[in-house]
Amino acid sequence: MTTFDQAQPDKTCDVVIIGAGPTGLTLANLLGEAGVRTILVERNEFTVQAPRAVSIDDESLRTMQACGLIKEVMADIAPDYGSHYMSTTGVNFARVEPTTREYGYPRRSAFTQPELEATLRQGLSRWSSVEPLFQHTFESVNEDADGVTVEIKRLDGTPLTIRAQYLAACDGGRSALRKIIGAELQGSTYPDKWLIVDMEETKERLRQTRVLCNPARAAICLPGPDGKRRYEFKLREGESDEEIATEESVKKLLAMYGPDENAKIVRRQVYAFHARVCDTWNTKRIYLAGDAAHLTPPFAGQGMNSGVRDAHALAWRFTAIAKDITGPGVLDSYQAERKPHAWALIEFAINIGKVMMPTSPVQAFLVQGAFRLMRFVPKLQNYFAQMKFKPKPYYKQGFLVEDTTSKVVGRMFPQPTVELLDRSTAKMDDLIGNHFALIAYGENAQGTIARALREDFGIDGLRTLAVTPMRLNIDRRADPAIPACRDVDGLLEQMLPVAKDSLVVVRPDRYTMATATITSPADIARLADAVRERVAASR
Ligand SMILES: Cc1cc2nc3c(=O)[nH]c(=O)nc-3n(C[C@H](O)[C@H](O)[C@H](O)COP(=O)(O)OP(=O)(O)OC[C@H]3O[C@@H](n4cnc5c(N)ncnc54)[C@H](O)[C@@H]3O)c2cc1C
Repeated sequence: MTTFDQAQPDKTCDVVIIGAGPTGLTLANLLGEAGVRTILVERNEFTVQAPRAVSIDDESLRTMQACGLIKEVMADIAPDYGSHYMSTTGVNFARVEPTTREYGYPRRSAFTQPELEATLRQGLSRWSSVEPLFQHTFESVNEDADGVTVEIKRLDGTPLTIRAQYLAACDGGRSALRKIIGAELQGSTYPDKWLIVDMEETKERLRQTRVLCNPARAAICLPGPDGKRRYEFKLREGESDEEIATEESVKKLLAMYGPDENAKIVRRQVYAFHARVCDTWNTKRIYLAGDAAHLTPPFAGQGMNSGVRDAHALAWRFTAIAKDITGPGVLDSYQAERKPHAWALIEFAINIGKVMMPTSPVQAFLVQGAFRLMRFVPKLQNYFAQMKFKPKPYYKQGFLVEDTTSKVVGRMFPQPTVELLDRSTAKMDDLIGNHFALIAYGENAQGTIARALREDFGIDGLRTLAVTPMRLNIDRRADPAIPACRDVDGLLEQMLPVAKDSLVVVRPDRYTMATATITSPADIARLADAVRERVAASR
């Protein structure tokens, strides 16, 4: 990055992050892993202590792998749970129990936000390039053509000035930076409120979420790790926040909905939920991420997960600029990619909310009846059970070599378990690290990589990996210098042609940037030209 010409800031860095919630902490860890000079500013002394998000998805777990913290995170979660949707009469009318592992991890797992944030904060101590400043409050920012000058207030009230190339605004739902850049939240706030009750030492043993879709009072019972559990109850019209949250009222509700009347309550609070997304996500130097950019109703457990996606989307871009792999134009695609995807997940949550909260007995009867009929259409039943209705990690437009004929470009690349020459196994991402990667797949994958190495893709530090299909062993006669492995899970054959070899450029956030089916060396040259031009256009 360029050097600063501003007068005497107290500190300088490449990226200053405001807010150490899950979004800011994830971003700081990813930048730390890449060695990008980062300052993380958080007004509180500690990371969040009260329970908030309780459901983490496979995409976020893959990002935790990229942070180098997957072992620690997995130790604190209850992996792999689904949802049972119950009718007014107590009939289980729909089950969502996904078993697939496209990205290497369970589709839904129970976790606690305080434990995740503590792990992420602890993880920062690994990186000398990241300076966390807790008990420091963001006050103001001045943006110019070369960067930002940020005014911070220390705990004792004294000022601190930070000069940075970029500012990541991860300052949550009440973001001051959203207002500063003039962004407006669009969408709506739900008229309904929910009482959230978090407890320890639950007696309820159901491993899945139980959703009681009762028009009289919708309720949800969510499992957590280590005997934790959350109950959520929709408030009825006219019910006040204070009235429903009393100890007596909570006990009464719990007695009606399960065996946890006497469990140890750690929090009871009434929330209003929002379904909103910002019209503008950034200026040239300031980028909103997480709840600062979007507010997601919790019915699909996606608010934090969307913030983790934003963090990954910013991290690789800031890194690519800092290391001169791309030009600053790579940031122009941030909003184009993230905004439609974040909104798709908000709509997904809204639709789940409609099933959860029927407005009348007639509506409940019709919706729940329709779901019950699905039992007779196995394909449809499988569609719901495997949670295929969740919006896929897919960008239609962005930092891609767009190709309207390709079903692969813009999609998150799968992560199979792979077998190496010595028969040891690994998760695929661990072989390529947090870099752009050129992945060949097919019978002649190693030969394809050997030929591709003669081309210029215009990406410094491009990693290579030859993946042979599940049914074939690695070719032991090929050049041993080419990293090679076998797709043990058979995931790539679900995405790429089986009969021909493919070459794919995967970005550091694991999205497919470009691809080609290889039938001649000219196909490789054309792919290299297109990728090189896309990277050059960002300069
Ligand atoms: C009841 C409930 C249930 C939920 N369930 C789920 C779920 O199951 N799954 C899911 O994915 N999401 C869920 N969410 C949403 C999830 O908790 C949020 O989306 C997530 O916390 C947002 O993370 P963030 O880092 O963007 O913002 P935050 O977590 O709000 O963090 C923002 C940080 O910025 C700091 N900050 C703000 N202003 C300043 C300043 N001026 N100076 C310095 N620091 C500042 C704050 O102190 C805070 O630490 C739930 C939310 C609620 C309320």
